[in-house]
Amino acid sequence: MEQQSDYRRVRVNRLKRLILLTISLAWLIPCALCIGLMVQVKGLHTQVQQLAETVQKVQMSETQTEERSIDLQTRLDTIEENITQTTQVDMEETTAPKQPEMLEVELPETEDENAEEKETQTTRRVYLTFDDGPSIYTQDILDVLKEYDVKATFFVNGKSGDQADAALVRIVEEGHTLGMHSYSHRYEQIYQSVEDFAADYEKIHQHILSVTGYDSKIYRFPGGSSNTKTDKDMKEYGAYLESRGTVYFDWNISSQDATGEYMPVSSIVKNCTTGLEKHEDCVILCHDAQGKATTVEALPIVIEKLLEMEDVELLPITEDTPLIQHVKLHPEE
Ligand code: ZN
Repeated sequence: MEQQSDYRRVRVNRLKRLILLTISLAWLIPCALCIGLMVQVKGLHTQVQQLAETVQKVQMSETQTEERSIDLQTRLDTIEENITQTTQVDMEETTAPKQPEMLEVELPETEDENAEEKETQTTRRVYLTFDDGPSIYTQDILDVLKEYDVKATFFVNGKSGDQADAALVRIVEEGHTLGMHSYSHRYEQIYQSVEDFAADYEKIHQHILSVTGYDSKIYRFPGGSSNTKTDKDMKEYGAYLESRGTVYFDWNISSQDATGEYMPVSSIVKNCTTGLEKHEDCVILCHDAQGKATTVEALPIVIEKLLEMEDVELLPITEDTPLIQHVKLHPEE
């Protein structure tokens, strides 16, 4: 009996434990599930928030893009409008009956503009002149001038000999101006009287004519019209030249190559290329004479510098060249 009762107790106890376990599990499992679900919900909530933010961002950028496209569209519309307006204006102008009037107004304006342009581009005329030749350097000077295709003016004295004659012939043949500078270049002789001057003039004029066939009408006084070698009125000599249909030229720019024994190349270049802005017609004095080697050396540099100047034109003196005279025969000119 006792054994049976023990067995029962054990069974009851086992049942109790089973019930308790079942109850415990029935309570624990839903709790654990609840906690798990809560964690999941929390995670999902965060994801939802992130997604919401992303959606907001996307929406915002979409709005901006839309705004931009709207802005672009507006601009395009404006441009199109402008094009349409311009085309309309052009069409109106083209078809407008007053078009010939507009042309008539525009044409004189264009001419005025051209005239103004010409006025601002004033050409400075530069004349290179060489006194006292022919000399041992004449051929060298002619070579340099030929190389640069520049024409100059030679005021020569009476010199005999084949070399001197050949130099005169080449001066004429190569298109330079062959001017007279007296036959003797002796101040005391030529400025003694107008008669003496006239005799000397005839001699040099005839000499050039017989050697080259060229009838020279251009003269430069030895020492210039402002020379201090005579107390006579230089206008008397000038009047004689005029009676022979000859014009005389002095200079307004000097290379200074006749001052002193030796003039450095750099000084000659500087003297020949400065002060040009003071004159519209620049007559540059140089010498073609024994001992003037630096003049020949300086010549290519001088020419290059002059040609580099945009407004400068290098020309030979002619009878039509504006007179550059220290003592003017006709001061009113
Ligand atoms: Zn001279």
